[in-house]
Amino acid sequence: MTLRAFAFAWLTLLVGPFSIAAQSDVLVQFAETAAFEFRGAPPPDLALHETLSDQEKVRIENEIQGVEREVRRLMPALADEIRVTVVLVDRDLRSVGGVSGRADAPGELLIELSTTFEGGVPALLPGLSRAMFHELHHLVRGWTIVGNRFGPGIPIAAVNEGLADVFADEQTGVVLAANEYPEQVSAWAREIMSLPVDASYGDWMFEHPDGRRAIGYRTGRYIVHQAMANSGKSVLELSELSPAEILDLAGLDGSRYDQMGAWDPESGARSTRSALGRAALFASVDRVGIVAVHGHDLVEGARDSS
Ligand SMILES: [Zn+2]
Repeated sequence: MTLRAFAFAWLTLLVGPFSIAAQSDVLVQFAETAAFEFRGAPPPDLALHETLSDQEKVRIENEIQGVEREVRRLMPALADEIRVTVVLVDRDLRSVGGVSGRADAPGELLIELSTTFEGGVPALLPGLSRAMFHELHHLVRGWTIVGNRFGPGIPIAAVNEGLADVFADEQTGVVLAANEYPEQVSAWAREIMSLPVDASYGDWMFEHPDGRRAIGYRTGRYIVHQAMANSGKSVLELSELSPAEILDLAGLDGSRYDQMGAWDPESGARSTRSALGRAALFASVDRVGIVAVHGHDLVEGARDSS
C-alpha cells in the first residue's frame, strides 16, 4: 500500500460512518398539486382529488428507503442523492401491482400509485418495492430519460429493461405475468436484432400493430436469462457490461451495437446522438397514442391496461 493509499484508507475509515449515513439519504416527496417541482414531464392524469394520510405517507417512505438501502448495498455505484416523487394516478395499473415508475434523470425518479388498485396503500407496497428495484437499477446503469448514457436501438432498450426486470424479479421473488416471455421468444430476439436502429420504440417496447405487447421488455428478460445461463454470471455481474457484451453472451451478435450502445459507467450523459435518439424514441411512443407522456416506464405500467 502506498503512503497515499494508506492515508486515504484512514481518511475513509475516519469519515466512513458519516458518509454512509449521508449516502443512504433518499428524499421522498409527495406531489399533491399539479404544480409540484419535478425535473421530468408531469403525468397528465394526477388524481388530485385523492390524498394520502400522514400514516400512509410514512409507510410509502419507509418502503422506498428500505429498497434504496438494499440496492445501495448490492450496487454501491448508486447516486449519493436520490429524489423520489410520488404521485397518485387514476389509471388502472393492476398488471404491475398498482405501481408504475419512471427514471427521469440521474438521481430522479417518479413513482405513480394507482388509486383504483384494490386494498389501498398496504396492497400497493409489494408493487412499490418492485418498481423501486427496477427504477433504481436504471439509475445505477444510467438508463434515464434525461442524461441517458446509451445510444438508440430496440436491443439496447431490451437489454436495459431486461436487466432491471430480472433484478426486480430476484429481489422481490415475484415475476409479473406481463413480463413472461412466450415459447417463440428466440424468434422475437432475432427479429429485434434485425430492426433498423430507429425502429419505433412504441411498437417494439409497448404495443405492436400486430397485437403483440411489450416485445422489447419480454425479449429483454429472455436475453438476460440466456446471457446468465451461458456465462454463469449473475444479473449484478451482467449489469456492469455493455449491451453489446450482453447480447454476445446471449448468443446474439451484438457487434452492431458496439459503438451505438457503448456505455461508460464513469461518465455522465453520452453524446448528442444518444440524446437525439432517445427523443425520437419517445416521440414515437406519443405517436402510437398509448399514453401522451414522455416516459418509458410510465407507459410500461400502462401497457396492459390501456
Ligand atoms: Zn424500465
